[in-house]
Amino acid sequence: MNTMAQAEDIFLRAKHRTFRGFTEDIEHEWTGPFYFIQAADPQLGLMKAWREGDCDGGGDEWTEEVDLTKQAVAAMNQLRPRPRFMVLCGDLVHAMPGTIFRDEQERDLKMALSGTDPSIPLVFVSGNHDLGNTPTPKTVAQYCSAWGDDYFSFWVGGVLFLVLNSQFFHDASACPQLKESQETWLEEQLSKISYSSSTAPKHIVVFQHIPLYVNNHDEEDDYFNLQREVRQKLIERFKKAGVKAVFSGHYHRNAGGYNDGLDMVVSSAIGCQLGEDTHGVRVVVVTADQVIHRYHTLDQMQKEGMDEDLRKLLQA
Ligand SMILES: [Zn+2]
Repeated sequence: MNTMAQAEDIFLRAKHRTFRGFTEDIEHEWTGPFYFIQAADPQLGLMKAWREGDCDGGGDEWTEEVDLTKQAVAAMNQLRPRPRFMVLCGDLVHAMPGTIFRDEQERDLKMALSGTDPSIPLVFVSGNHDLGNTPTPKTVAQYCSAWGDDYFSFWVGGVLFLVLNSQFFHDASACPQLKESQETWLEEQLSKISYSSSTAPKHIVVFQHIPLYVNNHDEEDDYFNLQREVRQKLIERFKKAGVKAVFSGHYHRNAGGYNDGLDMVVSSAIGCQLGEDTHGVRVVVVTADQVIHRYHTLDQMQKEGMDEDLRKLLQA
């Protein structure tokens, strides 16, 4: 029983709006360049659903996605130095809350991720498939019981990271209070940063599933971005607080844009691809001045490790 409890624990580090081991107390100081792995959409079950033209029903075979997740974990485990953490930016599984195969997909994903080296904490971000397109208090509670808090902040090496629940930006009609709570919390986080310069973070980085935008900050609304009005307000708030980059998934292709100091990074999937990219993860190096990132295919990372240019930045 004890080993089971310990094994489960790596999925529940995000509690009380912070992350065990990565609190401000422990990690507020800048100690030099470091890196982390950002990935998205293992989405167990999508491949079969996609092939069979049933995007929302899930399927009963997701071995391919399990294997890709295991490959991502294996490739990451062999990197030296080790990344400080891996963040999975949502759509952990394909089966919507309360639907058939949900439990099995969550179980199999946890199994695949449990091969992660114990020194690399796993940070989870909730996606539309994890919470439902219109989340309810019940679906949010289910997510939190399986993967920890749906929004929280944490510190690593003097950098502040904010994990957001982007479903509240998309459609909070069935959970207005939860959306309000995140708003209040976010405002507090962002204003704290602007006013206390003595404890100011080196950088601020945001993780959320749905990108603010896919290619251009002024693009039309569609399935893959946040609605324009919501998007513009967030961009303003992020810029005002000095947020450097927003990392997301959801698009199953690499994309993104840069606008007035704010880098919007959209990473393709570990799992099912919807464009021309290959299964992969993003390596993100944080230096004193910059947050620099490059997408690595799983094959490439497994064979060659981290991109040489990025590695050099770590030694600077
Ligand atoms: Zn998604």
